[in-house]
Amino acid sequence: MTTFLSRRIQAVLTASAPIFRFATGEWYLHHSEKPGICDFVFGNPHEMPLEGFTSALGRWNIPQNKDWYGYKLSEPTAQEAVAASLRERQGLPFEAADIFMTNGAFAALAVTLGAIVDPGDDVIFISPPWFFYEAMIASYGAHPVRVKVAPDTFDLDLQTIDAAITPRTRAIIINSPNNPTGKIYPPATLQALAQLLSDHSAQQGRPIYLLSDEAYSRILFDGRPFHSPTAYYPNTFLLYTYGKTLLTPGQRIGYIALPPTMPDREALRPALTASQLATGYAFPNALLQHALPELEGLSIDLAHLQRKRDTLVRALREAGYEVHLPEGTFYLLPRSPLADDWAFVERLAEHNILCLPGVVTEAPGYFRISLTANDDMLERALPGFAAAC
Ligand code: PMP
Repeated sequence: MTTFLSRRIQAVLTASAPIFRFATGEWYLHHSEKPGICDFVFGNPHEMPLEGFTSALGRWNIPQNKDWYGYKLSEPTAQEAVAASLRERQGLPFEAADIFMTNGAFAALAVTLGAIVDPGDDVIFISPPWFFYEAMIASYGAHPVRVKVAPDTFDLDLQTIDAAITPRTRAIIINSPNNPTGKIYPPATLQALAQLLSDHSAQQGRPIYLLSDEAYSRILFDGRPFHSPTAYYPNTFLLYTYGKTLLTPGQRIGYIALPPTMPDREALRPALTASQLATGYAFPNALLQHALPELEGLSIDLAHLQRKRDTLVRALREAGYEVHLPEGTFYLLPRSPLADDWAFVERLAEHNILCLPGVVTEAPGYFRISLTANDDMLERALPGFAAAC
């Protein structure tokens, strides 16, 4: 008998095939286990976790009442800590009742899509994208509609977004600072996007929601400010994960936040909680929620991350690579010296360096380097990068 798979999961398998093939395929598994390998593929930690993170978990692991590890929805102390942080960072009066604690941005995205998208709707995403947007949109029976960024600036291509909107368009996902381009969308772009979405929403008599994936909103370089679309477009869901700021992606905590300007917030509140239940109880574990007020202010050393960016960009340029300076995130996206970026990544592997081929993330002709590699790897890899070019 043949295996029966739901159409929904078949669509997810198809859309996520490139990254699954790479991450679980023999090539990466074989090379990443080689002694001395310098692995720049994923935004994973390559050094011990923040001491403040470990000690906070130790402290909050001690139960203070009988309900400590009982079922939790969003814990009020965590919601208040998030709302206070957003009020300070973004200058809008965010309310604790509009914060929905989730297990990372992954769940924040799934829960939001689950609350607003029906089969047959269109959801626009920007390419090159984070690996899983297409799969997650498809998992709700919606059509993923891909819009490429402007090739030279990596900024949003508003004309093409405008042309891609149809009466079926339910939502658009944008991600700034962007994985993999490192671009922070400027206020003028966000303002123009807001105008465009407002016009289409008014024409259609229903809102086109903006899902703002702000996973890297605190991973900023050169003292740059972050601009959240929530300041420009009221129908925005802000999606966040602590996995980047704390570099602890295996300890899953993040949130969805509704800005105080969001119309119909009261109706959305129970809908989001219901979607969390339907998404398989997509709340963070109790321990992480208890610790959150303490974790909220912690961060990896951004000055150190920026030094790694600068060292690599300088060395790559000296070696002859064409590489732009990312404004935020964990990633560099140099042009591949060979048109075939997979072939170039294989050449780098001969020098004990692992990078992500651009084709895997819809950026053919480029390759991606994660700056979460440690200093030792970085130093050891510089001669190999130069030799491969
Ligand atoms: N969005 C983007 C742009 C990301 O890069 C990631 C993580 N790589 C996520 C969402 C998911 O974050 P998390 O795994 O912490 O939920």
